[in-house]
Amino acid sequence: MRLPSVPSVLSGRDLAAAVRVETATETAAVPARLAVVVATADESTAWYVRSIAKAAVKVGITCDVTDLGPEADAPTIRATLAALSADPTVHGIILQTPLPVGVTQQEAALAIAVEKDVDGANPLSLGRLAAGLTAHAPATAEAVVRLLDHHGVDLAGRHVAVVGRSTVVGKPLAHLLLDRDATVTVCHSRTTDLAAVTARADIVVAAAGRPGLITARHLAPGAVVVDVGTNPTPDGGLVGDVDAVSASARASALTPVPGGVGPVTTALLLRHTARAAATTAAASNGHA
Ligand code: NAP
Repeated sequence: MRLPSVPSVLSGRDLAAAVRVETATETAAVPARLAVVVATADESTAWYVRSIAKAAVKVGITCDVTDLGPEADAPTIRATLAALSADPTVHGIILQTPLPVGVTQQEAALAIAVEKDVDGANPLSLGRLAAGLTAHAPATAEAVVRLLDHHGVDLAGRHVAVVGRSTVVGKPLAHLLLDRDATVTVCHSRTTDLAAVTARADIVVAAAGRPGLITARHLAPGAVVVDVGTNPTPDGGLVGDVDAVSASARASALTPVPGGVGPVTTALLLRHTARAAATTAAASNGHA
């Protein structure tokens, strides 16, 4: 295969903007409310939540943050999520991680009503996704597929190696890719000879949270590389899981960090919230 001298950059910014326009159009017709539950004093989480709230307002979604503090216990978190699930004015719920020590994200997320689970955190949403039933996919996993579609990367019959098997990224992404007829290999920290496995793939998705994990030797010539990783650097910046300089020697296309999967993820979270509000409104009007 003849390779371009410089790989294409698969930016997520245009797609995120297009998704935001769809969302704003929908919220102009049906108001939507998002509830974010936080139970940490972590400053980067606070920054992320502020950025979601700001992005929500821009597309016409009301966003309320409930900060339970870093001492919150599991029953308090579950009760808060259950109350929001029962509140008809709330359409989307996000349980922000990290959670206090001893609180399991998946156990707590069981208290989020599936129809309001806009980031696919409830294990029931993952189960429904795996079974091919309607559910909100975790926004990051969906963002990977939407980004590849947006840039015209075919998935059917292609071999995709997903590096990472978390319930928020790797596992749901594997199901979404299978639904698109890709052949999927899911890798993790116990995968023997990661480079040999990923170098057989047409598309490599890195979602390990390990800066620089994926280099040229992990890639087949012409591979498409999606970098989900967001790893803070000591100088306040952000790097992915892919060593972009090294990978550029082999990849045909790469997503940037920042500006790749991240903006699409945020846009889709809000899109899911607007959809949930529209679906509820249609159901109460007898259209669903
Ligand atoms: P996570 O829960 O820590 O899972 C990391 C996964 O990577 C695990 O399955 C782990 O394997 C695997 N892994 C770790 N080191 C590895 C290695 N050396 N070789 C192969 N696999 C390895 O992380 P996550 O929540 O899925 O997030 C992953 C990354 O995506 C993080 O950088 C996170 O910040 C980023 N992220 C970005 C967005 C976005 O919007 N862009 C959203 C969510 C997450 P084991 O299962 O064996 O431990």
